[in-house]
Amino acid sequence: TTAGSGGTSSSGSDGSHAAGGNVQDTSHKKIKIGFSMDTLLEERWLKDRDLFKDAAEALGAEVVIMAANGDDAKQISQAETMIAQGVDILVIVPHNADATAAIVQKAHASGIKVLAYDRLVKNSDIDLYVSFDNEQVGELQAKAITSLVPKGKYVYIGGADTDNNAHLFKKGVFNVLQPLIDKGDITVVYDQWTKDWTPVNALANMKDALSANGNNIDAVIAANDATAGGVVQALQLQGLAGKIPVAGQDADLAAAQRIVEGTQVMTVYKPIKLLADKAAELAMRLALGEPSGADRKVNNGKIEVPSVLLSPIAVNKFNIDETIIADNFHSHADVYKNV
Ligand code: BGC
Repeated sequence: TTAGSGGTSSSGSDGSHAAGGNVQDTSHKKIKIGFSMDTLLEERWLKDRDLFKDAAEALGAEVVIMAANGDDAKQISQAETMIAQGVDILVIVPHNADATAAIVQKAHASGIKVLAYDRLVKNSDIDLYVSFDNEQVGELQAKAITSLVPKGKYVYIGGADTDNNAHLFKKGVFNVLQPLIDKGDITVVYDQWTKDWTPVNALANMKDALSANGNNIDAVIAANDATAGGVVQALQLQGLAGKIPVAGQDADLAAAQRIVEGTQVMTVYKPIKLLADKAAELAMRLALGEPSGADRKVNNGKIEVPSVLLSPIAVNKFNIDETIIADNFHSHADVYKNV
């Protein structure tokens, strides 16, 4: 084991040598975790950043954080910087599921393992994937909306095409919708990705959906609360907000407020603290060359990735108090501020 630079150079891909070396070193040397984030623009990622840092520090690690603002080249160069700084492990939230495979390759070339946080890195030898069950997120959305609107014209406002999760969310939605489409009860009259998940792009898409259908739409499933915000804005412009059910995801404060105000019917709550805690714990284990204990496998186009998938929770106006407010994800005062 190389002292000082600390085991990172000696960690072979099987981790066996690193394990012995690092375990010996733990009393002298802090594990250094590099956290490479796509963006900090949405509310949830600020929680992820803070909760992950807290959890990793509580386990004795040092955390370096960089965010790439949705820029693929920047995310790769930031990861290279962290590798050069001698991190023991990289945890990444990929902006682009394919482009970030380059990060995994570069890290492995330096004997550093990589954990995919929330979003999978495709076509790579990524070491571990920790997320929520994202297909289930879409299923929860579609179940909630179809129970309110069993028949009619549906709009699907998807996430960013470059994010593997966006594809899983959509798959989950159509797992539920397809039988109803086949029966002729539901027609999907508009279905588009939202570039970079931005509300402004979702607003533009929803305007298109409304005008292409003469405002004759019965329900909208938006891939997250940011895009749902754009959808509700488009509906507001037509005097339709609150009249057409809208689903979202993330339990953003603005979405929680829309739910109690009646302009959004549901969101999918993913307790970020559970994800951050799990990812921090497993990042430490990977860095120490210990087995992760991952209980699932997810195919990323190249390998079966050891994975941990947590459970998402459907939230509407009836259970909002006992879920996101009880968890202190948001305060009662904030959520009910406008009602
Ligand atoms: C996350 C969502 C988030 C979206 C946009 C997805 O990969 O799982 O929680 O809303 O990215 O940032």
